[in-house]
Amino acid sequence: MHVQLTLKRNLFAPILLCFYFLSLCSTARAESPEDITWKSLETKHTIIHYQNDKELEKFNVRIDYGPRNWGLKRLFSSSSPDNLEEIVGKKVDILFKRVQKILGMRKKMDKVTVNVYQDKDRLHKAFTKIYRTQCHLRAWYRYKNNTVYVNVRDLHEGMLAHELAHAIIDHYLLVRPPRATAEILARYVDSHLK
Ligand SMILES: [Zn+2]
Repeated sequence: MHVQLTLKRNLFAPILLCFYFLSLCSTARAESPEDITWKSLETKHTIIHYQNDKELEKFNVRIDYGPRNWGLKRLFSSSSPDNLEEIVGKKVDILFKRVQKILGMRKKMDKVTVNVYQDKDRLHKAFTKIYRTQCHLRAWYRYKNNTVYVNVRDLHEGMLAHELAHAIIDHYLLVRPPRATAEILARYVDSHLK
């Protein structure tokens, strides 16, 4: 859920922020065992982990972002897996650069891994394995392994941008900013994406 926060609404800010933490964010640290065999798509700025081409196609549909003429271009291009990978790769890199631009935080950093889970169950299972507690999140970013966790059935470009923003924010400064500050910045990004 992406609720726009304006700093003027001081009264509601702490309440909204707490809610947002619960619904979208976590930066807790723990081990990360994974028992899923991933396929991997390496882009300029990210490494996307997905289970099969069908899931990648869903991911592509969910992330509605890119140059305006993409719709036409996609109509006339083949839908082979190679082409799909190319489209998804470009799309995610454009989104990544856009997030950097909005934040004014352009700096070379390690590629961000994006784990794209098939459904809520698998996403929650991953969370429980890492943090040893029940999951109430729709997506999160984990600093320890520089990884974004998303569920392809519950995803949109704003959500991915938000989590990529966390990765960028946490790696831009020498010291990671306070969680509340990072959250305000990440939310600014997803609400100013388009
Ligand atoms: Zn967040």
